[in-house]
Amino acid sequence: MNPNFLQTPIPYLKGVGPNRAETLRTELGIETYRDLLHLFPNRYLDKTQYYKIAQLHASGADVQVVGKIVHIKTVEQKRGKRLVAKFVDDTGEMELVWFRMQKWIRDNLKLNEPYVVFGRINRYGSSFSMPHPEMELLAEHQQGLKVAMQPIYPSTEKLSAKGITNRVVSKMQQQLLLESKGQFAESLSPSILDELRLISKSEALLNIHFPKSQELLVKAQFRLKFEELFFVQLQLITKKLIRKQKIKGLPFDQVGTKFNTFFEHHLPFELTNAQKKVIKEIRNDLGSNAQMNRLLQGDVGSGKTIVALMCMLLAIDNGYQACLMAPTEILAQQHYNGLKELLGKMEVKIALLTGSTKKSERTLLHNQLENGNLNILVGTHAVLEDKVQFKDLGLAIIDEQHRFGVAQRSKLWHKNETPPHILVMTATPIPRTLAMSLYGDLDVSVIDELPTGRKAIKTVHRFDNNRLKVFGFLKDEIRKGRQVYIVYPLIQESEALDYKDLMDGYESIVRDFPLPDYQISIVHGKMKPADKDYEMERFVRGETHIMVATTVIEVGVNVPNASVMIIESAERFGLSQLHQLRGRVGRGAEQSFCVLMTGHKLSEDAKTRLQTMTRTNDGFEIAEVDLKLRGPGDLMGTQQSGLLNLKIADIVKDNQILQTARYHAIQLLKDDPRLEKPENLPIRSAYTMMSKGKDIWGYIS
Ligand code: ADP
Ligand code: MG
Repeated sequence: MNPNFLQTPIPYLKGVGPNRAETLRTELGIETYRDLLHLFPNRYLDKTQYYKIAQLHASGADVQVVGKIVHIKTVEQKRGKRLVAKFVDDTGEMELVWFRMQKWIRDNLKLNEPYVVFGRINRYGSSFSMPHPEMELLAEHQQGLKVAMQPIYPSTEKLSAKGITNRVVSKMQQQLLLESKGQFAESLSPSILDELRLISKSEALLNIHFPKSQELLVKAQFRLKFEELFFVQLQLITKKLIRKQKIKGLPFDQVGTKFNTFFEHHLPFELTNAQKKVIKEIRNDLGSNAQMNRLLQGDVGSGKTIVALMCMLLAIDNGYQACLMAPTEILAQQHYNGLKELLGKMEVKIALLTGSTKKSERTLLHNQLENGNLNILVGTHAVLEDKVQFKDLGLAIIDEQHRFGVAQRSKLWHKNETPPHILVMTATPIPRTLAMSLYGDLDVSVIDELPTGRKAIKTVHRFDNNRLKVFGFLKDEIRKGRQVYIVYPLIQESEALDYKDLMDGYESIVRDFPLPDYQISIVHGKMKPADKDYEMERFVRGETHIMVATTVIEVGVNVPNASVMIIESAERFGLSQLHQLRGRVGRGAEQSFCVLMTGHKLSEDAKTRLQTMTRTNDGFEIAEVDLKLRGPGDLMGTQQSGLLNLKIADIVKDNQILQTARYHAIQLLKDDPRLEKPENLPIRSAYTMMSKGKDIWGYIS
């Protein structure tokens, strides 16, 4: 076959023409033969099944019915006319409806002759209608070729309006397969095909569009899903290999006195096994001569800070400086205080740099950084300013990654001739397997264990009409000396309304918790940053009992004395957000509580979210549910990784295949890093085609 066959522009296909080509392009992004071939059916219909009209029940089902048209008429309506046919079988009647091509249909349809009609039904009360059915005389139907499984292609309103029905798409596929003689270049190696017992590419493509049997369809789907995920993984892994080989890292080859002193004399508690494991992984990276780019995931409270500190001590032991960045001023301040406390009397020079650091202090800081007198800099975005120059930055740690963009991360790289090692810490759990694929080009460490002795937060769901009881409970807790968060949703689209809810809520709380017994802080997005900080600090210092807030408190604040989190309109929050919010409590020795308040009207998804929250505190389990509810679209990073452009695989449902694909991609590159072995040539050419001809193999040694 001509190797450029699949590149052929779609208008060349018999039966397509410029108009249809344009519609295919705008609606489905189909420009070439390849694009069409990779338009895979969403699902398949069992065409061996015929429905009786009396058996129809749900709107939206695609069905095949045998019957006769007994009557046909044109109905005038406000916008144009429609053609309506009464279609009957021996169990009942339904309507067939046309909005387009009415004359042609009227002229060609035969009354009182048995037809097989096929299409999607709409239900109106107890009657059904089928717009633009595909029709065939029963006599012809019985003679025609039988396909057991009819593919159903993705469609849009525009497509069907322009007459590109499912049948038309199917015809195009047939034409394409005819022109290609069903022969397509293999893109996997014989050994992978063999080991996984995959069917050939040609067989898979044929059977995905025209399944010969259920069994072959399943095989075709498996083969194509595997292939798709395999190439995504291959791209991610080669990217990582290239980075590791091109970018030399700073050698941290010794574990020195600071690390050891801290470990032996200053550890305030025994490290959890997970913490130990993660420190070991990081140490391995730092000791290799490649630059570290690692993502550290650990649920809120899992103890990432001490891991960060020990890594920074390693940097110092090797003659380098370290910095730790946090997304807000309060967090930076908390980190600074926390680290100083952990370091105790150890000889480590540490400083804080934020937007509100005074000018004179700043100048001093800049000097100390440049002459190397300062070991650790903790700060906010202020650290990224060009004026901030290190003598020798060896390690940069970023806390709460999602507040920092990729661009900002790369800014850190340029603070040195050789880029520092980078550790990104996040408390937003991403399901393990997904993380592996999303961050296929980063290394991932996970702290999957909380320090022992922590009391699990008790979470309950309460309806709004129980508010007085909940308030009573709050009063009890406050009497015991605890503090309380009350959080309101704030969603961009309904900001004004949300703001009103917050203010109404605040007023009622002020009424129920009057001065002087109760002190209340309020923080929301419309306040000036200075006022926000002031209110926040009052709460942190324990001067107020209740913090009423929108989700601005979501990230990282540590108030161990706060033991109750009330989330208002909890049904409006996403799962990961609920989990993050709940993580604000449960940080002290006391039993903590989270109360999810809602009205009685709840969607199924909302119920699932609430049930998940009351059932478990495990961030990874919650992330799995979240992924299933929302799909990967909302998760950070999916966009970049290309995992969203998948044509046939689904990273949630096909996770098993994804793991297999990743495993084989890794094995392949281990065995033949530049894909030079003859047997791997099919993979190499497919890869080159996908990366638009760019030859990347020169970079891999
Ligand atoms: P996060 O991962 O959310 O940043 P932190 O580092 O703030 O968590 O740790 C949360 C709390 O747990 C801190 O008070 C910290 O001192 C404590 N902690 C961390 N590791 C341990 C451990 N191994 N044993 C006991 N307490 C720990
Ligand atoms: Mg933290």
